Amino acid sequence: MTARCSICSINFPIGYTRCQRCAGRLDHVDNACPDDDWQQRAAEDDPGEDSGDLRLRVHRMEQLQQLGLGLEASFQLATETDVVARARHLIGRGCPPDTAARILV
Ligand SMILES: [Zn+2]
Repeated sequence: MTARCSICSINFPIGYTRCQRCAGRLDHVDNACPDDDWQQRAAEDDPGEDSGDLRLRVHRMEQLQQLGLGLEASFQLATETDVVARARHLIGRGCPPDTAARILV
């Protein structure tokens, strides 16, 4: 059982709901296994043509997740340009990541 991104052809471990590369929704596939190199492939910097905004969004998602926000909240928030700075500000002042996510959404 795996969670597959049909756009990137990457099989993620079960538990992921969004592609770590293009942020697309993952399909569950019963008769397949997560790729051994999924993390490496997800980090590849070429999700396709015309993807400047997408890359920026994925980059923001990564930064938000590093700050402690959950995957879904990071995905939702990543469309906003100054969201990482705002999240860093809140969390830097002692705001728990969950609360910061609720404030920022
Ligand atoms: Zn993908």
